[in-house]
Amino acid sequence: MSTSTQYVYLFGSSRTDGDATMKNLLGGKGANLAEMCRIGIPVPSGLTISTEACTVYTEQGRDAALAAIRDQVLQGIAFLEKEMGKRFGDSADPLLLSVRSGARASMPGMMDTILNLGLNDEAVQGLARKAGNERFAWDSYRRFIQMYGDVVMGLKPVKKEDHDPFELVIDMLKEKRGVQLDTELSAGDLKELVARFKALIRARLGHDFPNDPWEQLWGAVSAVFDSWNNDRAKLYRELNDIPQSWGTAVNVQSMVFGNLGEKSATGVAFSRDAGTGEDLFNGEFLVNAQGEDVVAGIRTPQQITLIGSRRWAELAMVDEATRAAKYPSLEELMPDLYGQLLKAESTLEAHFKDMQDMEFTIQEGRLWMLQTRNGKRTGAAMVRIAMEMLEQGIIDEKTALQRVSPERLNDLLHPVFDEHALRTGKIIARGLPASPGAATGQIVFFADEAEEQTKKGMEVILVRQETSPEDLRGMSAAKGILTARGGMTSHAAVVARGMGKCCVSGAGAVHVDYHARTMSIGSEVYKEGEWISLNGSTGEVFSGQIATRDAELSGDFGKLMALADKHKRLEVRANADTPTDARVARSFGAQGIGLCRTEHMFFEGERILAVRQMILSDDEAGRRNALAKLLTLQRGDFEGLFREMDGFPVVIRLLDPPLHEFVPHDEAGQRQMASEMGVSLAKIRMRVDDLHEFNPMLGHRGCRLGITYPEITEMQARAVIEAALNARKRGATVMPEIMVPLVGTVREFNAQAEVIHRIAAQVFAERGEKIYYMVGTMIETPRGALVADSIGKQAQFFSFGTNDLTQMTMGFSRDDAGKFLPEYLKKGMYEQDPFRSIDQKGVGLLVQMAVEKGRAARDKLECGVCGEHGGDPASVGFFHRVGLDYVSCSPFRVPIARLAAAQAAIEG
Ligand code: ADP
Ligand code: MG
Ligand code: MG
Repeated sequence: MSTSTQYVYLFGSSRTDGDATMKNLLGGKGANLAEMCRIGIPVPSGLTISTEACTVYTEQGRDAALAAIRDQVLQGIAFLEKEMGKRFGDSADPLLLSVRSGARASMPGMMDTILNLGLNDEAVQGLARKAGNERFAWDSYRRFIQMYGDVVMGLKPVKKEDHDPFELVIDMLKEKRGVQLDTELSAGDLKELVARFKALIRARLGHDFPNDPWEQLWGAVSAVFDSWNNDRAKLYRELNDIPQSWGTAVNVQSMVFGNLGEKSATGVAFSRDAGTGEDLFNGEFLVNAQGEDVVAGIRTPQQITLIGSRRWAELAMVDEATRAAKYPSLEELMPDLYGQLLKAESTLEAHFKDMQDMEFTIQEGRLWMLQTRNGKRTGAAMVRIAMEMLEQGIIDEKTALQRVSPERLNDLLHPVFDEHALRTGKIIARGLPASPGAATGQIVFFADEAEEQTKKGMEVILVRQETSPEDLRGMSAAKGILTARGGMTSHAAVVARGMGKCCVSGAGAVHVDYHARTMSIGSEVYKEGEWISLNGSTGEVFSGQIATRDAELSGDFGKLMALADKHKRLEVRANADTPTDARVARSFGAQGIGLCRTEHMFFEGERILAVRQMILSDDEAGRRNALAKLLTLQRGDFEGLFREMDGFPVVIRLLDPPLHEFVPHDEAGQRQMASEMGVSLAKIRMRVDDLHEFNPMLGHRGCRLGITYPEITEMQARAVIEAALNARKRGATVMPEIMVPLVGTVREFNAQAEVIHRIAAQVFAERGEKIYYMVGTMIETPRGALVADSIGKQAQFFSFGTNDLTQMTMGFSRDDAGKFLPEYLKKGMYEQDPFRSIDQKGVGLLVQMAVEKGRAARDKLECGVCGEHGGDPASVGFFHRVGLDYVSCSPFRVPIARLAAAQAAIEG
C-alpha cells in the first residue's frame, strides 16, 4: 500500500484525511465534508474516492479502476463500520450508505445520488426491527430500488410523454388505494411496491435487482464514474466551461434518516438569500422525508425561519392560521434543532467567508449536515452579498470584486415589465419567485420543442410539471420557465438562477397535461402556443403578452462599479454611434467613445437619399454636391456626440462598409429608389450590379473608399473638425480622434492623414481658431499588424478592430462561420468561439506584437480595442496583460468590462 496511490480518503469523528483545499482531488462535496468534520460540524462518517480514480476509470476501464481501489475501499468500509458500530451487509442491523458524486465545481442535479445502499430482502427486516418502524424500512428500501434502478440499471421513461416508470407504479397503487400522497401509503403498500419494482426490473431488463450489498456498492461507484461521461453532464460542462478531463469523486457515506417519523426531517438552507442577496438565513424542509424529496417538488416544503415562513405564506396567499397549523417553520416546530442549525450555518459562513448553501437531515432529534458549498446566486445577489460582506469586514475589496462574475451583471440589467403594459395584465396564477426578471412568450411543454421554436425566432415560455436535467437545453433557450411543482430549491429554480433566467416555480394551481398539450388553471385552459408572461421576482403568472422594460441600477451596483474603477487600470470606452447611445454609455460609466461608426448615421430618413445620390453620381462634382448635404447632417451628429462626451475622447471612424450596403437589392426597393431619385430603374440596377462583389468583406471598403473617393474623407474630416469647434464654443471639452479603417500599408494611412490634416488646416484658417485632434488607425488587417512599426511612426493611435482581425486571421467570416463553428467547438478544433472571446494564441499574438512594434516606433502610442471582444471578460483580461490603454464595447457591456478590467488588474 505504501508505494501505491492513495485513492480513498476517510472522514469521520476519529480521523479525517482531506480538507477544503483538496477540491481537485476530492471534489467540492468531498473536500467540504472533510472540512466540516475538521471544524466540528456534525457530519455522518464516510469516505471519498478521488477524482484520480475516475481518470483511471475513464482511461483504463471499469475492471482496472475497481482493482486499483478495491483494497482501500474495503479498509474504508471497515473504518465506517467501526465509527458507526454497524456492519455493512449485516442483515440484523445493517450499515447503510449513500453514494454521491462530487466534481470540483458544483454541478446541481447533474449526477445522481443513491441512498440506502446495502438494503436487501433480509436487511430490510433487520432495519424494520431495529428501528421499530416497518413503514420506514420498506419506504427506504423502495426508494433505494427506485434510485438504483434508475441510476445504475438505467430504467428510464421510454417516451418523452411518459413519466418515470417507478412513479407510474406508485401512482397506480395510490389510485387503487384511493390516496393522494406517498406518505399515505402503509408499510404493506410499500412492501407491495418493492415487489412490483423488482418485477418491473426483471421484466424490462431480464435480470434481477442485486441482492448482494457489495455488488450494489461496486455498481453504484461505477455508475457515478459513468455519469461523468453522460450527455447531460457533458452538456452542463460545455455550458459552464468546465474541462471534461477533471473527473468526479465518489462520496460513500453512512446514512442518516430524515424519514424516521415526526421528529425527523430533511432540508436545504442558505446563509443569505440567493435571490436578492439579503443577509437573512433561509431555507426549506420537509418532516419525515428523505433526501431528494425537498428538491424533487413532490410535497410543498416548509420554511426554516418564522420570518421566511410568513413571507412565503403571503406570496402563496395562505392565511396565518393555516400557515401556523399546516406549514409551521422549523423555528416553531423544532426550536432546539433550529438553534443548532443556525449555529452551524453561521459557523460555516464565517469559516468559508461566503454565502453557504447547505443540506441537512434531522434524525430523531439529532442534526446532521450533509453538504455545504458556496451558494449559487442571482447576479443581483452576487453584487449585494459581495458589497455587504465587504462592509461587514468579512472580505476585503479585492475579494469583493472577485466575487462577482462580470457576465452575471447582465442579470441586473434584466428586463422588468413595463408598468403601463402591466396594468392590463391579468394574474392567472401565483408561484414562487424562483429567479428574477420578467419574461413573455408562447407556451411550450417540452424542452426540445422550446429549443426548436427559439431557433425559429419565437419567444417561448417552457411550462413543466417540474423540470429535470434533461430539460437543460430547452430551459436555456426559453425566455422563462414556469413549473407547477417544486420549491425555491427545486431543479427548475436552481438551474434558472444559474442561467440568470426568469423562473416561477411551484405554481400549484397550474395543471399540466402533456398529452393534450394544455395547461389549465381552474376552469381556464391554455393551449400550447398561447402567450403568457412571468414575473420571476414576484412569482406572478399573467395571461397574454406584456411588454418588458430594461432594469435600473441599484445602490450596491453603483458601489461595486466605483470599487472596480478604483482598482482597474484599463479605461473602458463605449462603441456608440448617436448622441442617445453616448448618453446611455455615460450612464453606464463609459470613459469616452472608442468607436463611432459614422455610416450608422447614414441610414436615417433623408440621409440615405443623399448617400444614394452620392453613389449614383457619375463624377466627382456630382459626389461633392451630394456630400455637401451630408456634411451638415454629420456635423450636427458629431457635435451632439462631443457634447454628450464632454471631457472624454471620441474616436470617429471614417466611412467603412462597402457601398452596396446602402442600395436596395430587391426589385421593389430599387423601383422605389428610382422614383425617389427621379432616374430609371435600369440605371439603378446597373449601378447595383457594378457594386456587386464576390467577397464584400475583402472588397472595396475601409480606407480603400477614402483613397478612391478622397472627397468623402474631406467631407468627414470637415464635419468632425467643425463639430469639435462648435461643441467647444458651447462649453464642452472636446477630444476628437479621427480613425482610418482597414489600413494594410503605411502609404494608405499617410494618404488619408494628409487629407485630414489639410482639411483641418483649412477649417482652422476659415474659423481663425484651432483645436487639438489626433489621427490614428484601426489595426484590423493582419498586414497592418505585421507592419505596425512603420504605421506607428505616423499614426497617433491604434485601435484594434478585432472583429475583422479575427475574420482575416482565421480565414473565415463571422457571418458564415455559423455553418461549421458549433461543430468545430464540439469537436474541440477551437476552445471557444473566436468571435466571442479573442483567440489569444493566434489573433491575440498579432495584437500583442502590433502593440510592441507600435510603441517601439512611438513612445506612449495610445492603443485600444473596439471589436466585440472589448466586452468579453476573458478578452478584457488579455488586453490588460498586453498593455492596451482601453477597451471599447457596446454601452450595455460597459459595466461588465469595468469589472473585468478590475479583476484583471487584481490578478496582475
Ligand atoms: P446533489 O449533488 O444532487 O445535491 P447529494 O449527493 O448532495 O446530491 O445528495 C442528494 C441528497 O441526498 C442530499 O441532499 C441528502 O438529502 C441526501 N443524502 C445524501 N447523503 C446522505 C446521507 N449520508 N444520509 C442521508 N441523506 C443523504
Ligand atoms: Mg447535494
Ligand atoms: Mg472593421
